[in-house]
Amino acid sequence: MPSAVEVFTESYRSAWTPEPRLNVSEWADRFRVLANRAGHAPVRWKSSTTPYTREIMDALGPRSPARRVVFMSGTQLSKTETGLNWLGFIMDQSPGPILVLRPTVDEARRFSRQRLDPMISTTPVLSDLIKPARSREGGNTLLIKEFPGGVLFLTGSNSATGVKSMPIRWLFCDEIDEYPGDVDGQGDPIALAEKRTTGPSFPQRKVFLVSTPTVKGISRIEREFLRSDQRRYFVPCPHCGHFDWVRWENIRWEKDEQGKPLPETAALACVECGAMIEEHHKMEMLAGGEWRPTAEGDGVTIGYHISSLYSPLGWFPWSECVAEFIAAHDDPIKLKSWVNAVLGETWEERGDSVDPESLLARAEVYPAEVPDGVGVLVASVDVQDDRLETAVKGYGVGEESWLIAYVVITGDPSKEDVWRTLDHFLGRTWRHEHGQRVPISCAVVDSGGHHTDQVYRFCVRRASRRIFAIRGGAETGRPLVPRPSKRNRYHVNLFTLCVDTGKGTVLSRLRVEEPGPGYVHLPSWVDAEYVAQLTAEKAIRKWVRNRGTVRRWVKTRERNEALDLEVYALAALYILGPAFVRSLPERVAALSKPVDSDDEPEPSPTPPRRRRGGWIDGAKGL
Ligand SMILES: [Zn+2]
Repeated sequence: MPSAVEVFTESYRSAWTPEPRLNVSEWADRFRVLANRAGHAPVRWKSSTTPYTREIMDALGPRSPARRVVFMSGTQLSKTETGLNWLGFIMDQSPGPILVLRPTVDEARRFSRQRLDPMISTTPVLSDLIKPARSREGGNTLLIKEFPGGVLFLTGSNSATGVKSMPIRWLFCDEIDEYPGDVDGQGDPIALAEKRTTGPSFPQRKVFLVSTPTVKGISRIEREFLRSDQRRYFVPCPHCGHFDWVRWENIRWEKDEQGKPLPETAALACVECGAMIEEHHKMEMLAGGEWRPTAEGDGVTIGYHISSLYSPLGWFPWSECVAEFIAAHDDPIKLKSWVNAVLGETWEERGDSVDPESLLARAEVYPAEVPDGVGVLVASVDVQDDRLETAVKGYGVGEESWLIAYVVITGDPSKEDVWRTLDHFLGRTWRHEHGQRVPISCAVVDSGGHHTDQVYRFCVRRASRRIFAIRGGAETGRPLVPRPSKRNRYHVNLFTLCVDTGKGTVLSRLRVEEPGPGYVHLPSWVDAEYVAQLTAEKAIRKWVRNRGTVRRWVKTRERNEALDLEVYALAALYILGPAFVRSLPERVAALSKPVDSDDEPEPSPTPPRRRRGGWIDGAKGL
């Protein structure tokens, strides 16, 4: 098989003749070769496959006056390739300093290795400009690519030094909803990076902001899109020619006689003529489509929104969108990712506070300490000046959860006694409905109060039992559990939790009304005080200078330990790792197996014969 270089030599040669300045899409169609992925031969980029990317790329080119280009989208739409085409174009046609900002430095490295390097090596005009990484000629590492007339830097939004150094002309911020609200106490990473593009050095400069959105009100990409002229991709109805953008509410599917949905029947209803538009019309519609602004905007920001419903024929059909929706529709966790990834829209958390009365009303009598449905037990501990408060939680399929115990150990945490009691408590096992004894698989202890040293001392000796120190962090919009740090006096693994994310998750789960994924079961012994603490905070949205809209939690009453314990318990579950969380269904099934009566002797006047004759005699014979 000829190599990519041989196949595309023709276009490479023609690049030597002086060309009129190209648009980004023209450049991509002429020169860009898509990297060899999953064993396929390299193929040429064709803008006609994803016609909606053409205008976005050209808005990034020198002929467009746009300063800021925002692209909010679902998945399976060539979002990243669009950005890569722009980078290739800059390096070849319009050189200058470029900064590529990814959520973290690690992700910047991965992006360089998995996306940028393959593009450079398979696209001849680029491989001629840029030496392979780690070549002795220098000028090219994983995070720095030099080319004639410019240099491309890659860094993470979590690195203030990376974000703040030299002036740049082209700024590409990808997956911006994953960025921290603040980088090393110096403010919003995008604002810091954008500052580097201002000044007299580069009168013509561009910022490209790209992401799949997350939660309404705190999503950066949505905030940027709302500042823009909010372009939508209008496509013609193949039946009547009416132009409209593709909306989820116009997707229809049939049901069988039992009322079971049939995703394979998914089609789009035209709002004008009412006719059904089938999947196979997609490509002609995309080809005939055009971007139209739907808002005034701020005059410098052009914004594009597109959902996966536009994904080209054969990539991600409407039938799959519908099937995924059906699988997710009654699970708020799955539904949130579906709305973000497929519709490319933010997820709206319903309401901002939870009603304690309704929680109290649904408390239930458990048939045993650990009801069927639980796959793992975890514990969380809050340290107060005169007591330890601890909660034991069980988690099952879809992170449905059960409060198992809530215990207050009174005493001074600067004394050993309370810690001994806690140690004993965390070491006991809990009786499952079907007879097994269930241990606590992970426990976390809050080290944020006045007794940090005692907490560290307690945890450092018990790391093998997965008892860890945690601390609530002030960051927002990060995963609940980040990697632990050992930078503390006792070198214990300390997890600094993103409490903001944790509270958001817990409070949205308390609003789930039916048992199933995400639902929080409360035992009959919880009282009004407990549920009042559980619902003691509500979210408010606040505009903060340099950081935009952030979600802040305000206490609606003084004590809120139950809510903290709930958040910490969820962190304890996540500390066990994603593979563990994925294995919850199997763990639930394993605990549901009734124990063998040999292991669990029940008081009985006449013990079964087999026991006496078999096991005990056999043991004697050893
Ligand atoms: Zn029509």
